[in-house]
Amino acid sequence: RGAFLSVRDLYVRFSTEDGVVKAVDGLSFELERGRTLGIVGESGSGKSVTNLTVLGLHDPRTTTVGGEIVLDGQELTGAPERTLERLRGNTMAMIFQDPLTALSPYYTVGRQIAEPYRKHTGASKSEARSRAIEMLQKVGIPNARLRVDDYPHQFSGGMRQRAMIAMSLVCNPDLLIADEPTTALDVTVQAQILDLLKDLQQEFGSAIILITHDLGVVANTADDLLVMYAGRAVERGTVREVLRAPQHPYTWGLLASMPRLSSSVDEPLHPIPGSPPSLLSPPPGCPFHPRCRYPDQVAGDRCATERPVLPDGRGAACHLTAERKLTLYTEQIKPR
Ligand code: SF4
Ligand code: MG
Repeated sequence: RGAFLSVRDLYVRFSTEDGVVKAVDGLSFELERGRTLGIVGESGSGKSVTNLTVLGLHDPRTTTVGGEIVLDGQELTGAPERTLERLRGNTMAMIFQDPLTALSPYYTVGRQIAEPYRKHTGASKSEARSRAIEMLQKVGIPNARLRVDDYPHQFSGGMRQRAMIAMSLVCNPDLLIADEPTTALDVTVQAQILDLLKDLQQEFGSAIILITHDLGVVANTADDLLVMYAGRAVERGTVREVLRAPQHPYTWGLLASMPRLSSSVDEPLHPIPGSPPSLLSPPPGCPFHPRCRYPDQVAGDRCATERPVLPDGRGAACHLTAERKLTLYTEQIKPR
């Protein structure tokens, strides 16, 4: 039997007035229960689209999906909307960057946690209310018994994010997708929310996909890491492997643009020059080659003509030899 979540050769294309956007272009990954996969990349890399597609939240009128998404033995690509709707909120749940997109201003926080629970379990009103209070306590809302009757605007930003997490977890989802869950929060609250997610995962045993543009967020939270660029995975490994010895020049760029807690405040950051390619007409060869500093380290013009393949397991989609990657990384990138 396969992994709990298995995504094989996923393609997502949007039709627009200007042509077809290849938002995701041949992506494969697996995820087991109890593990967290971090998906990292700049905006437009396809990370959010991938996950909306897993949840079946794409618009079928404008979107073409190919490949295979199998969750717990069940094929999701092409599954009827009814099936997906049942799975969403029950088997799979999502945490968004902005809690106000998920929480309605018109209902109390407690009701919004209790309702999906009633819907999916058939619990009574008072059982669901107790469950909502319990969930608010679990996510660290003080005085949960009183706060359960508050409206979202009576909560601070950090508390709203906690309430949304409570809402996402109330039905014990097996798969939780968190898309930039802490981006809108200040650093202290960010760390608290990430700790909370980790604790809840221990308790619920969910598989988590954590989508972020910030390698710092996955460093302490995720087990495995997928780096995406221009709709493709360009590097994969455990978080430890990737952070210790990253192999793809794009990952090097992401690391260099990450603020380091240990360094002095004045140390300049090095954002990656240039911007991601248009997905209407992605460049031939390696999609990163227009921004890469190392095509001259690869024999011939392979970077501009030949698409590098991401191996299964640990590795990077890059034509540099393993030896060259290591030398470049240890001599030029790491000593910064
Ligand atoms: Fe850079 Fe070439 Fe590697 Fe692409 S394949 S990341 S262009 S060195
Ligand atoms: Mg996004």
